[in-house]
Amino acid sequence: MIDWKHALFTIGFSAIAATRADRWLRWAARGSGVILMFHRVRPWREQSFAPNRSLEITPDFLDRVLTLLDEDGFDVVALDEVPARLEGRRTPRPFAALTFDDGYRDNLTYAWPILKRHGAPWALFIVSDFASRRSPPWWLELEEAIASLESFEVILDGEKHIFKTHGADEKYAAYHSLCQRLKAGPECQMRAVPSELAAQANLDLSQLGAEQCASWDEIAVLARDPNVTIGSHTQSHPILRRQNTFAVANEIKDSRSIIEERLGRPVRHLAYPSGDSRSVGPREFALARGAEYLTAVTTRPSHIWPRHADRLTALPRVSINGNYQTETAVRALLSGAPFMAWTAFLA
Ligand SMILES: [Zn+2]
Repeated sequence: MIDWKHALFTIGFSAIAATRADRWLRWAARGSGVILMFHRVRPWREQSFAPNRSLEITPDFLDRVLTLLDEDGFDVVALDEVPARLEGRRTPRPFAALTFDDGYRDNLTYAWPILKRHGAPWALFIVSDFASRRSPPWWLELEEAIASLESFEVILDGEKHIFKTHGADEKYAAYHSLCQRLKAGPECQMRAVPSELAAQANLDLSQLGAEQCASWDEIAVLARDPNVTIGSHTQSHPILRRQNTFAVANEIKDSRSIIEERLGRPVRHLAYPSGDSRSVGPREFALARGAEYLTAVTTRPSHIWPRHADRLTALPRVSINGNYQTETAVRALLSGAPFMAWTAFLA
């Protein structure tokens, strides 16, 4: 599944480059701008099992993306500016807003100096529970646990499952199968299973969160940079669509109050966890609007068009995916051509 999808994307990006579609199609395919989504930025590490590799790019590649944005004529703008860019008449120069999800510590260590050097504004979407060390990201917990376990048993939806996890192939198979089931099942199971496996593997969970995620003190230092916007990525990073309305409203509102109290400055932007159409929908868009967020971003892939001016709490983003760290891929994504092709394919 993952392999054919990877092959298809790679062929697609190459075809766009070979036909120079990123040049001749961009006048039709490129929107008013684009909101790019990043996660981790850290040096490449040789690992036989790295199921979250798509979430990370190297510092060199981030530097390359920023140079390509400049070469392609994009104005890099803060999220605060996006509504105004959509209201005004279409300017000849497209805009790009840069967003980083989850609040990984490597964003401060590796990404920040590069962004500073380029004078690029950017936004960090933090999960207040990660910063408070109340819980680490469950997908990292699961990765670490499977990396150190040779086999394990787990109860899923009341049924016992046994996984053998000797080599990398078995570990990948177990990770992807579990991830899929956890995302489809109840929220409490999605939280409990990775913690249970981490306990079986004798992992220190407090250390895992502290190593990977920025602390409040670090975020406060970052927030003093006028080029940095701190946004909310909810309180506990749940799949919002499967929560009741009361819980969703709390995740959206309370995370903001917590961040505002900690940092002493207003929070105006929200990124929905997971962010695809199975995770967020019209109810979440309305709640974010009701909570008076200026913008809220999904992970639905598209450029930003003038029509998004009245859908500011349902903005699409373009993911800079660690599996495609090539200029060909970035040029294709910035041209808008892949989204035109996907829309035509889906229609
Ligand atoms: Zn996230």
